[in-house]
Amino acid sequence: AKAGGKDRVELFSDETRAKLLRRLDLEQRLRAAIEDEQLTVAFQPQIDLSSGHLVGAEALVRWSEASPAEFIPLAEETGLIAPLGEFVLRTATRTLVQLHADGLKPLTITVNVSTRQLEDPEFARIVQQALGEAGLEPRHLCLELTESALMMARSEALDALRECKALGVYVGIDDFGTGHSSLARLRELPVEVLKVDRSFVDGLGTEPEDSAVVAAILSLAHALGLHVVAEGVETPLQADQLIALGCAVAQGFLWSPAVPADELHTFSAVATTA
Ligand code: C2E
Ligand code: CA
Ligand code: CA
Ligand code: CA
Repeated sequence: AKAGGKDRVELFSDETRAKLLRRLDLEQRLRAAIEDEQLTVAFQPQIDLSSGHLVGAEALVRWSEASPAEFIPLAEETGLIAPLGEFVLRTATRTLVQLHADGLKPLTITVNVSTRQLEDPEFARIVQQALGEAGLEPRHLCLELTESALMMARSEALDALRECKALGVYVGIDDFGTGHSSLARLRELPVEVLKVDRSFVDGLGTEPEDSAVVAAILSLAHALGLHVVAEGVETPLQADQLIALGCAVAQGFLWSPAVPADELHTFSAVATTA
């Protein structure tokens, strides 16, 4: 509460102090975890809706101490997202090459990227190096950024994405439909993939407005020649609706949460709907 006293510390309630301390503590432990390679990467299967086949996976970072919802924003604010993101990129590309060597058919691996990482003028070179060291062809990698981050991205950041695209990797927009992109902006972004936000998938089959929004996103994507992935599919009804609307690829708890890489072998063919 505002105490109005001379001592600035009094401006913070005990609760706020506790939060600040927890944040500081979390930051120190995250820094150590990145240095000691205590982070891991889990992979959420992406399914071709017409065949039921595994066609890709999204790499999602894991830490025993906290959830991504808690430590990713912290990593973005503190700059730790750069080494964290590079770790995920290297791990994901190396893991995919290993999976292919173990007999899994060619997949696309999607890696989340924060715009903060694009501030490094070397970003495209980091991506190129990760691909080179792993021995992975660029077309097997998709870099994914949230729509809201892309809307605020500076032109240097978009240049970095253009460089990545020129390498032959795919660039996608995450959480599409929630970030208020203008059509003009969308057309000039160097992206090839739209990922329909979970909030619209939620009401498929039950909320007519959600079906209308997903249908509109799909027709927009097709008009612009973009691929579409639906996220957060939890029920057979949602999957059926996506098929009816012409969506090609989806991911969600209906098939699997993010799992350790070796479990992807069990997804080579799964049923599309119940
Ligand atoms: P996101 O990129 O939108 O990832 C999807 C999130 O939804 C994941 O949470 C995933 O576990 C969860 N999810 C997947 N399928 C379903 C479903 O059917 N239903 C529900 N209710 N949830 C589902 P997670 O792993 O906790 O990640 C949260 C966010 O953290 C991600 O959202 C992403 O923005 C960020 N993140 C995760 N890993 C990384 C990373 O390596 N780098 C960066 N920059 N961000 C990351
Ligand atoms: Ca994502
Ligand atoms: Ca998402
Ligand atoms: Ca999301």
